[in-house]
Amino acid sequence: MSARAEYLAALGIDDWRQRRPLAVVAAPPARNADSWDAVAADVAACTRCGLCQTRTNTVFGVGDRQAQWLVVGEAPGADEDRQGEPFVGRAGGLLNSMLRGIGLAREQVFIANVLKCRPPNNRDPAPAEVEQCLPFLERQIALLKPRIMLAVGRIAAQNLLATDTPIGKLRGQVHRFGSARIPLVVTYHPAYLLRSPTEKRKAWEDLKFARRVAAGTEA
Ligand code: URA
Repeated sequence: MSARAEYLAALGIDDWRQRRPLAVVAAPPARNADSWDAVAADVAACTRCGLCQTRTNTVFGVGDRQAQWLVVGEAPGADEDRQGEPFVGRAGGLLNSMLRGIGLAREQVFIANVLKCRPPNNRDPAPAEVEQCLPFLERQIALLKPRIMLAVGRIAAQNLLATDTPIGKLRGQVHRFGSARIPLVVTYHPAYLLRSPTEKRKAWEDLKFARRVAAGTEA
C-alpha cells in the first residue's frame, strides 16, 4: 500500500481515483447573442413589409463595424437600391464631403438608413414600414455601440426620436437614443442641401457641434 493510501485508510477515507478523464463539457451557446452576420442575413431575407416586392437589393449599411460614428439616413434611393449600399448617389457624394470636412473618411463611420429597402418613387416611408424595419437598425446599434449618432434629414430624425417636431427645432441639441442614451445630433439631409445650398452653412455648424459632442466637450 502506498503511503498515500495508508494515510487515507487511517483516516477512513475512500481513495477515489479518476479512471477516465472527465468529458470536456462544451459551454452552451450563449442565448440572445446577436451578431452582424445574423442581422445581415435577416435583412437580406426580410419580407416583413411590401417593399420586399419592389426592391432590387436590401441596403444593410456600410462602414466600420467598430466605428464611433453612426450616420442614419432615411431610406435607399434608386442608386442605393441598385448597388445595395447607402448614400452612393449624388447625396452620398455630399455626405462624404460633409464628413470629410470634420476629418472623417466614409470608411471610418458606419452608415445606415431607417429603412433597408427603397420605397417606390422615393416616397416617404410609411409608419408601418418604419415599425417593421427599425428593429434591424436597433440591432445594428446594439452591436456597434456608437459614441454618437448623426441623424441626417427630417425623416431619420423624427423616426429615431419619435417626434413630429420640425427638423429646424431638432438641430443644435444633444438628443438621446434608446436605453443606452446614445447622444444623437440632427442635421439636414444632403439631398436637401443640394436643393438649398445656402443651408450648407447650418449643416456645417451641425457637424462641428456633433464633433464636439463625440469628443465629449459638449453637454
Ligand atoms: N438618402 C438616404 O436617406 N439614404 C440613402 O442611402 C440615400 C439617399
